Parts: sequence; structure tokens; C-alpha cells
Amino acid sequence: MSFKDSGDKEYDLCIVGSGPAGLITALEYTRLQPEHSVVIIEYGDSNTKTKNDLDDSIQVTNLTNHHEPYECTNKGFGGTSATWGGRCVMYDEVDFVDRPIIADGCTWDLDLFRELDKYLARSADYFECGKAVFNINEIPQFKDERVAENFREGIVTDSVVERWSMPTRFGSRYADDIAARPNLTVLRGYEAREFVDLQGSGHFSILKIRKIGQAELFDVKAKAFVIAAGAQESTRILLRNSQLFNLLPALPAALGKYYQGHLSGKIASVRFYGGATKTDYGFLRDEEGIYLRRRFQFTDKFLTENNLLNTAIWLDNPLYYDPKHRSGAMSFMYLAMLMPILGKKLAPAAIAESITKGKRYGISRHIGNVFRQFPKSLVIPATIFYKRYLLKRKLPGVFLFSPENRYALHFHSEQIPDVSNRMELGPDRESLVINYSLLEEDINSVIKLHKVLDNWLRETGCGELEYWYPDIDMSTAIRGMSRDGIHQSGTTRIADSPERGVVDRQLKVWGTKNVYVCSSSVFPTSSQANPTFFLGAFAVRLAEHLTKQL
Ligand SMILES: Cc1cc2nc3c(=O)[nH]c(=O)nc-3n(C[C@H](O)[C@H](O)[C@H](O)COP(=O)(O)OP(=O)(O)OC[C@H]3O[C@@H](n4cnc5c(N)ncnc54)[C@H](O)[C@@H]3O)c2cc1C
Repeated sequence: MSFKDSGDKEYDLCIVGSGPAGLITALEYTRLQPEHSVVIIEYGDSNTKTKNDLDDSIQVTNLTNHHEPYECTNKGFGGTSATWGGRCVMYDEVDFVDRPIIADGCTWDLDLFRELDKYLARSADYFECGKAVFNINEIPQFKDERVAENFREGIVTDSVVERWSMPTRFGSRYADDIAARPNLTVLRGYEAREFVDLQGSGHFSILKIRKIGQAELFDVKAKAFVIAAGAQESTRILLRNSQLFNLLPALPAALGKYYQGHLSGKIASVRFYGGATKTDYGFLRDEEGIYLRRRFQFTDKFLTENNLLNTAIWLDNPLYYDPKHRSGAMSFMYLAMLMPILGKKLAPAAIAESITKGKRYGISRHIGNVFRQFPKSLVIPATIFYKRYLLKRKLPGVFLFSPENRYALHFHSEQIPDVSNRMELGPDRESLVINYSLLEEDINSVIKLHKVLDNWLRETGCGELEYWYPDIDMSTAIRGMSRDGIHQSGTTRIADSPERGVVDRQLKVWGTKNVYVCSSSVFPTSSQANPTFFLGAFAVRLAEHLTKQL
């Protein structure tokens, strides 16, 4: 749809961005307020699939620990849900508690966490991940089962589960619902540029937008605005629009700062002592057929008392690229991933890279593995291919049984909100520079929690860890393997004052009366959790809040 100024038309609500956050806000709001008009401004159109000016104008200073811009987001209808994995994970209480290790960076609180509870079920509906129950002990079907023989819950737990979405691609999944709502307009191929406050009162009434590739600006008038452009772009929009903060004595000091992702990687395997067939190494399916998977976690009390970062550790396959695993199926999948065209079709770049580690290694030994276990090496991948690509609810991942009862361990850890990890405008005031690295304390926490898991497994007679690196090399190994940029939080954080944060607890930008941010950038702490499911709950809550406001 092409667009000229909205003239006298004033929309009730204007939303920037059509990713999960923008679409959930729009769908919820138009459901609650069917008489109100909503417009979504979406940068992506069919021409932005390969190249776009936004990603081209991002500079990442540390490509060891942060993905390239094109690997981090998608610009198009449905946003980054076009390639997301679909892992739906819940935040924990500890993420809302200010602990010494967080260094005064926890600017939200437990009241907010509890309030969000009310919106989880609705978020789960949008993500099509079943009931918003994230603990297996509350699911009768599984409640008495443990991850492995002899495992007992204590300071280490095995009952927290992640749920898996279809994965829902928001653009295609909700296109018909959007088309069926006459009060919802989508403008594709337009960039949100500048907010205008005609009275200087903090009430912004116009958003200037431009068609991609053109300079001319058009006005969109609305009673309220929601910036849901993903963490990087929402932050860039606020940084470019410093007039949003004109009523404050200064720009919020936290804007663009405290950028966090997750530490992620593998440094050890676990060997369970009990029966191999009793180990819950793969996916569970609940009564609705939703895929679930267990994670080792540590109790909130233990993390708080020991000043450690919230971390999940799950059973995984050994490294694909290393033919030492001797699995024909894994070698076949690794070789397929290396194929120039096929490899790109099988997984998004960031995921493919996490499997191949960018290495071409031991090709002839991989081929040997494939032949040795023929035909299993082909039958297993073929079954997985069918379940993963041809079924409506896709098999979310591939986890293979180990007859030796030995599994790699994958860690996914919270990161300290550090002021030097930040997004800022470049000298042209348009480009975005991303500074991101890991602190030694981030890494030490990961190492310590592996030791805690090891001790717990030994104490309970369940198993033990086998480390892949000597102690002295562990920190360097983690620094070299951990790479994020696809889970982004912290840069427009929630706080109860503009001195500490950028938005208030209703997600309203401090200094404005009617501009909101709905993005994981508002999360002050990063948890062990992937952010999108919880962001969905915030979007549902925001729609309800706006309904009361407008
Ligand atoms: C490979 C990959 C795998 C992932 N897997 C998972 C997972 O398993 N679980 C999980 O929780 N998270 C995952 N994520 C992260 C997840 O995709 C994001 O958290 C989620 O998409 C964020 O939703 P959003 O609506 O805030 O932003 P986005 O989905 O990024 O959407 C933002 C939209 O805003 C538009 N936009 C940006 N700037 C402007 C502008 N100036 N004007 C107009 N429009 C604009 C963009 O074009 C885009 O369509 C993954 C990400 C990647 C890259």
C-alpha cells in the first residue's frame, strides 16, 4: 500500500515494527478495541530480503562474541520470527532480584514479575506453545520422572522446561487475522523516522515516515505510538529522536547502555552412571503434542546466596564438526550443512554456524562414519528431515541417543548488565555502533556452575562431568566460543525513574505522555531465558494498558 500524509485522519494507535512484539500488540489492541484504528509501520518489504540500509549501517566492534547484523534480525512482515527457532522460555524470580553480581543493574522488581503472570497464557496462545506451564512437576503426565536414573532435585533442578512454538512465523501465521480486521492497516516498506511534539508538552502527535529508498517524509498522526522495532532498531530510533526527552533535564543516562545477550556454548560432557535408556535426552511431548525439553537450573536461593548468574544447562549432542563422535547421522548432517546451497536452506546462518562452528574439519573421517553406520546414517537424518521440515508442528531440534549415556552439556547464561556494552550512534548520527564483550565475572559464573552441577551429580550418585578443557584454558575457551546478538536486552531498560532507566513499568518512554517501547530492550536483566515468549506477555499487557489509556 502506498501512503501520503494521513491528512486529518488520526489513528488511535501507531505501531512501529511487525515482529512478534508489534503484531501481538496490534492484534490484542484491535481485539479489545474493535472500534479503534491502528496502523503498523513496517520497514521490510519484498525488496529488503537480501540487503537493507538499516543492517548495512550497523557496525559490530567484536565479531568474536556478536553475530553480523544480518544474522541477528530480519526486516520484513513478521520481523525476526521469519527465522527464529521457536524456543519459548520463562524468566525466573531471581531475574527480578537485585543481586551484588548484577551491580545495581536490576531496575525492575518482583511485583512486576508477578503481574506478568496474568498475561502468560495469552502469550502462549500467540506462540502456539500450549499451556504456560514451565515446570514439569506441574504436568501430571511427567511429574514423577527425572532426567536420569538416580537424579534428585535440590540446589540443581531438572524440572524446568522450555516449550516449543511451531515455530510460529508471525507474518504468515497472522496475515489472515490482520486482513480480517478493517480497523488495522499495515504500511510495508516504510521507515519510522521522527516523532513530533507540536505543543512541546510531551504529547507526540505525528510520526514522520519515509518510503524505503526515498527522502520525502509523510506524516502519520496518532494518539499513541508503540516502538516495536526490535531491540537494536528501537534503541536506534530513541537515540536519533532525542527530542522525545526534551522535558527531562537530560537524556536518560541508561539509553543504549547495559546491552546484554547470553553466554552460550559447551565446555563439558556429562556421563550418567545409570541405565542409558532411562535418560531423558530428547524432547517430551505433552498432551497437546507440544514439544518440551528439560533444562538443568539452579534454585533462586542458591544463585542469590552464592552470587552467581542465572544459567540453564541442557543435554546436547557432541560437537558435530568433530568426527570423534563416530555417529554416522551426525556426520551426514554436518556434511549437509557444509553444502553451499543446501546448508543455507537447512538452518538460519546463526544456527548453522553454531553447528558447524564455521569449520571444515575431518571430512574423510566424517564420510567414514557415514559408511560405517549405513543405512542408519541416512535413515535417521531422513526421518528428522521429514519431522523438521514437512510437518506443520516441526521437530524443533535433533538430539541423538547415546548408548554410553554420555551427552555434551550446553550452557546458556545470564550476562551482567555492564555499562560498556552499549549501542550508540556513529558520527553521522544515523549509523549504529554495537560494543559487546564478556566480563571475566560472566565467564567465572559459568565455570562455577558447571562445578556445582558436577558435585551435585556425584553426590547423588547420578553421574559426573568430563571437561573438554583443562582449568587453565577454560576461560579463554568460553570467550572464544560464546556468540550472541540474537537475544538482545537492556538498552532501553525499565526503571522507576529516568535517572535509572528509559521506560517506566508500563513501557512508556520517560519524558513523553504517549510513546511506548515494546521490545526485549526494556528488560534490565537477561536471565537464562530466550526473551521472545516473555516479551509476548509484555505486548499483551501493553495492549490492555493502552486500551485503558486511550
Ligand atoms: C536465528 C535466530 C533464532 C532465534 N531463536 C529464538 C528462539 O528460539 N527463542 C527466542 O525467544 N528468541 C529467538 N530469537 C530472537 C527473536 O527472533 C526475537 O527476540 C524476536 O523476533 C523479537 O521480536 P520483536 O518484535 O521485538 O522484533 P523483530 O522480530 O526483530 O521485529 C522488528 C520489526 O521492526 C521492523 N523495523 C525495524 N526498524 C524499523 C523502522 N525504523 N521503521 C519501521 N519498521 C522497523 C523490522 O523490519 C522488523 O520487521 C532468534 C533470533 C534469531 C536471529
